[in-house]
Amino acid sequence: MPEALPAPVKAKSAPQKAMEKLGLLRDIDLALHLPLRYEDETRLTPIAEARDGDTVQCEGEIVESHIELRSRRQLLVRIDDGSAQLLLRFLHFYPSHQKSLAAGARVRVRGEIRGGFFGREIVHPTFKLVNEGAPLADSLTPVYPTSAALPQAYLRKAVGSALQRAPLEEILPEQAVPRQLPALREALMFLHHPPPQARLSMLEDHSHPAWQRLKFEELLAQQLSQLQAQRERARLRAPALRGRRGGLHEQLLAALPFTLTGAQQRVCEEIAQDLARPQPMHRLLQGDVGSGKTVVAALAAAVAMAAGWQCALMAPTEILAEQHFRKLIVWLEPLGITVAWLTGSVKGKARQKMLDAAASGAAQLVVGTHAVIEDKVSFAKLGLAIIDEQHRFGVAQRLALRKKLASQALEPHLLMMSATPIPRTLAMTYFADLDVSTIDELPPGRTPIVTKVFADSKRLEVVAKIADEVARGAQVYWVCPLIEESETLDLKNATETHAELSAALAGKSVGLLHGRMPPAEKAAVMAEFSSGRMSVLVATTVIEVGVDVPNASLMVIEHAERFGLSQLHQLRGRVGRGAVASVCVLLYTGPLSDTGKSRLKAMAETNDGFEIARRDLDIRGPGEFMGARQSGAELLRFADLQEDSALLQAARRLAPELLDHHPAAARRQVERWLGSKAEFLKA
Ligand code: ADP
Ligand code: MG
Repeated sequence: MPEALPAPVKAKSAPQKAMEKLGLLRDIDLALHLPLRYEDETRLTPIAEARDGDTVQCEGEIVESHIELRSRRQLLVRIDDGSAQLLLRFLHFYPSHQKSLAAGARVRVRGEIRGGFFGREIVHPTFKLVNEGAPLADSLTPVYPTSAALPQAYLRKAVGSALQRAPLEEILPEQAVPRQLPALREALMFLHHPPPQARLSMLEDHSHPAWQRLKFEELLAQQLSQLQAQRERARLRAPALRGRRGGLHEQLLAALPFTLTGAQQRVCEEIAQDLARPQPMHRLLQGDVGSGKTVVAALAAAVAMAAGWQCALMAPTEILAEQHFRKLIVWLEPLGITVAWLTGSVKGKARQKMLDAAASGAAQLVVGTHAVIEDKVSFAKLGLAIIDEQHRFGVAQRLALRKKLASQALEPHLLMMSATPIPRTLAMTYFADLDVSTIDELPPGRTPIVTKVFADSKRLEVVAKIADEVARGAQVYWVCPLIEESETLDLKNATETHAELSAALAGKSVGLLHGRMPPAEKAAVMAEFSSGRMSVLVATTVIEVGVDVPNASLMVIEHAERFGLSQLHQLRGRVGRGAVASVCVLLYTGPLSDTGKSRLKAMAETNDGFEIARRDLDIRGPGEFMGARQSGAELLRFADLQEDSALLQAARRLAPELLDHHPAAARRQVERWLGSKAEFLKA
């Protein structure tokens, strides 16, 4: 029987704080904090039967106990259970240990057996002094996920007592739960304290019906909260924006130096239909790198602006925002549109001017980074918000945006853009309330990029090839490796490569771009490269998203093995934007693992970003994809979208029915499972 927790004291203890940090605030949170694995303390193994490598519990009388000083100070205790002797070795110990582990005492120990030189031993066993015949545990002992500041024993007690108090009554109507699954209380009691005969393998691989019940509950809560968000959104009102014949968007179409691809026309039509409705659009525009999403965004903005509403376009980096800005002023200013520019680095008077222009409505389009959603920025009449590379914005930023959007009587429409397609399983779950448009065609006249994989030992040949290309007027990106958590090393490497290439390409302009440069300097370097005056741009990954210099036809990526596939694909998409045949060279520093090899091979084999995203997902799992969305909280703790698709289907069928016919139960289900995390799901 678990003991009660010590009475609450005024100041929170370290373990209490650690518990809060893990999100274990309510009794129900603790009850839903499930074991990672179990220890079997329900039986004793005779020492003579314990084999090397087994984790066992033994009990015996201490026959000898002494401190050994020879190589390293340690406490050695020998016990005997009548079948054999076992040595307990403590490398860290307190004097109190030594005192209690005295000859003659009876001790119950647990740990991994090693066949040591002096016979069987356990290093640092857990131990407990017992009387002969002391009762054994009557269920398997749970081992919970925890942190360094939260001792397992403390957490075990906390969970045990919370389990007694937590409201675990059935919320769901009986017919709603798949028949083969146990009741929630029963399932939880079982999972926290399984009987000795429970099948450990089914518990540990989560296939046991008790686990299934928990996963079903979790998936249902997640589906319910998504559906709720969707319905809440459907109740919101937005301005109905319709493009008129001869209106701004048609003028823009006529002014473009190209005609839209069929796919662009189709997605424009899908977006136009959303904009014309009095509910806010909530649409994701996905399309491979270079598929031409920007112009689709500009056309949507034109519809909104023509109807007298403002637009905001946000990009995750300054460079990308600036590229958009430059392109959009070229397209829109001749049509009489005022475009404002707002990023973190716009300061002082210039900033005030931009803020005033947004607030007064003088700026019809505001382009920038997340600075656009800061508190101080207000819009006279925001009709459409566009987020480029939406998955790169964090949860907090998305929530801030939602708040900002919700501050008007009429909500703006929301268009998100991404070059990374959402996998189907995620589309059905986390992104269930998102409409998706896909550009599945590249503009004509592009020559596919040829990707080659070389070991870094071929570096000199690659540099020679660059010299040839540059002599012929080509422009080249050289992307430097991403060294995790070390901007300094990143920089050193980029600087060295810059020097190396400058020396090899005497007489040509070689530029350097890295994350630490002040924005104005970055912009100046980018401008040099865009204009064609600069031949080679050595860059850390700051160029990753969206940069558009059509004349660049060669890219070298150093330490390609350190990048994710989708990231490599994004990077590679910086070349092959014009009609010239383009080449991407992936340099790796070996030796590569088999997966490492097959990953780079995949890059050479296909140019299809969606195919690459699929392979990336296979290799890395959905966690990576969810990225920022998940960082606020581990949203699905137990269920696995791939593995538990049958449960997911059941939860999907049940959610609308529950929300319609048992709204109170639906609310309690979400509250029980998600509590404070519900907010994150809406981001
Ligand atoms: P992404 O989808 O990666 O954001 P961009 O919008 O940057 O792609 O477009 C890539 C390039 O293709 C840009 O230079 C853009 O002007 C050009 N482009 C877009 N649509 C077309 C089209 N229909 N025909 C020709 N070029 C196009
Ligand atoms: Mg783009």
